[in-house]
Formats: sequence, C-alpha cells, structure tokens
Amino acid sequence: MMKKADISKLIRPNIRSLKAYEAKEIPCRVKLDANEGPYSPLPAVKILADKAILSSLNRYPDPEGKALKSALAKSIGVSSRNILLGNGSDEIIYYLISALGGPVLFPVPTFVMYGVISQTLGAKAIPVPLDKDFDLDTGKIISIIKNQKPKLIFLSSPNNPTGNCFSSDRILKIIAASKGIVVVDEAYHPFACSRGFLSSLKKYRNLAVLRTMSKVGFAALRVGYMVAAEELIREVNKVRLPYNLNSISQAVALQGLKDKKIINALTKDVAKERSRLMKELSAMDGVTPYPSEANFILFRVGDADGLYRELLKQGVLIKNLNGMITNAMRVTVGTRRENDIFLKALRSALKKN
Ligand code: PMP
Repeated sequence: MMKKADISKLIRPNIRSLKAYEAKEIPCRVKLDANEGPYSPLPAVKILADKAILSSLNRYPDPEGKALKSALAKSIGVSSRNILLGNGSDEIIYYLISALGGPVLFPVPTFVMYGVISQTLGAKAIPVPLDKDFDLDTGKIISIIKNQKPKLIFLSSPNNPTGNCFSSDRILKIIAASKGIVVVDEAYHPFACSRGFLSSLKKYRNLAVLRTMSKVGFAALRVGYMVAAEELIREVNKVRLPYNLNSISQAVALQGLKDKKIINALTKDVAKERSRLMKELSAMDGVTPYPSEANFILFRVGDADGLYRELLKQGVLIKNLNGMITNAMRVTVGTRRENDIFLKALRSALKKN
C-alpha cells in the first residue's frame, strides 16, 4: 500500500502560514467591492467578431505581445523596450519580487498583494505605517532605506484602499534616497488629477511605473504593464512565463487603446459619480468618507461588520476593511443606477445598525 503523504509537511513554511487571497464570488445585485470599471467598453470587445482571432485559437499567442506593446509605447511616448506586459499588474509584482528578491518595503495600509507575494516568494517584507493623513512617513522610510537597503519599494499612488495620492515631493525624496527600485503603482492614475511619474523615468533609473487596464473597463482581460529602464525590463523579462498574455486579451486591449474616447468618457463618468457619492456620504450621520483620487471611496462607520451584513442582505456588495482599518469600508464608484441603489441601501442599513 502506498504510504500516505503528509502534504502539509511538504509545503514550504512560508506558504503554509499564508492566507489565500480571497476573491470570493458573493451573489449580489450590485457589485461595488473590487474597483472595477462600471461598464464594459463594448466597441473594443466587438473585435472578437474578427474571424482571424477566433480561427487561430489553436496557435499560441504572440509571446511578446508586440502590437499591444507598441501601441502602449506610442500612447505614453516611450520605446517598446521600456515596457513589460503582465497578466494583470499583479503578475508584474510577482515577477519583480522573483527577479529582485527582498527586502520589499511598502507603506500600510496599501494593496495587499505586495505583502502576499513577498511572503509567497520568501522575500522579507517591511510594512511602514502611513502618517495620520495617509501620506508617506518619509523620515521612517528613509531611515529604513539606509539601514535595511530594500531592493524594492512599492508605492501605490493613488493608494488602495485610502484613495489619496501620496505627495509627489515625498515620492521623489524616496526615489532619490533609494538604491533599490521604487515602483510607483499607478493602477488608479486614470482617475487622479496628478500627472503621475512617467515623466520622471528619464531622470531616475531606479524608478518603475506600473499601470493596468483593469480599472478602465477591462478587468477580465488581465492586462497590466510596467514602464521602466530597458535594463530592468530585460532582467525582469527573464522570469516572465512564455505566452503570459492570451491572444484574445491582446486583441481586445489593442482595440481598447484605439478607442481612447471611450476610456476617457468612462473616467469622466467615474469622476462625476465620485463627487456625487462623496457629497451624499458626507451628508450622512455616522459616515466619514475620505477624499479620493481613485475609482473608489474609503469611509468609516460605527460598525463596519454589521453594516456590511445589512448591505449584503439588500444585495449590495462592498469591501469591508475592518481587519485592516478599524470600521472602514471601501465602495467602488459604479454607474449612477448602482450608486443610487448603494446609497439607498446604506441609508436603510444605517437606520437598522
Ligand atoms: N495595484 C493596485 C494598487 C491595485 O489596487 C490592483 C487591483 N486591485 C492591482 C495593482 C492589480 O491589478 P491588475 O492585476 O488587475 O492589473
């Protein structure tokens, strides 16, 4: 008889103690928990009717994503050699930590995957609390840079889940002080008023900018990209799995970039609805919303767990962040109709809570 394997003993200790990332599929009427774009940019998706794409599904996709890379490069004014494509920007975070290793520094609270992937890959994570305004604690970060020399620093700006951009001068100070790579994760840049950090790439070789198409209506495609110095792109590219971006995603994303007007209209809609939501939330007793430059709003309530359950009973799914920030919740900006349903449900839930 075959000996029973003790699987848990076979698993590396850093993985055994890891909690799987929960992206639960909770049935709901209105889904405002994952910072997706509020609607699908249909004209881009219509490219799927193109027979050439569908009749070559037996072939592997373009391993380099040449056409998409070149369109992205053109749209942001860099060379294709400065771009690495990922199956979502998540994958690029994974590749960066694989290629460079730790220590990996990031402020907290922030996007959880910086910590999860560090632990997965056995890289030391250095979480540094944000200051009381949710901005970077430059003094602390710079002293850690001196003492622990992090190989990678991840700065999500606008930051998920707080919604604010970090001050540019603080980001620049950190880039200047660091010998490691500073990754400014601009997943939510399309909704922000700041210019972002692409224009600083020429000046700082240790800067990398992460972008994604997930927040502007294309989350299902899983298309993210990094813009950085050629040498960094070349090295990180070595750990990229072949064919990491499927051909349907490449084709739809390429078409999506051509329909710039549609993405622009979507970001404008989101900005308009964000200010309406902000106004409505600010006027509610027991709700404290924080200003946002992203496609979501962080707010504090008296009892986030109770309110989360009440909202779900009414078919409204938002993110309960109580484990991360006391009694905080995050709502994604949806369509006008979705936001109305959320606001109505929240008012009624607050009365019961
Ligand atoms: N960075 C940040 C700050 C995010 O919030 C997210 C998505 N939640 C990502 C990266 C990953 O996005 P994707 O993998 O869909 O490109």
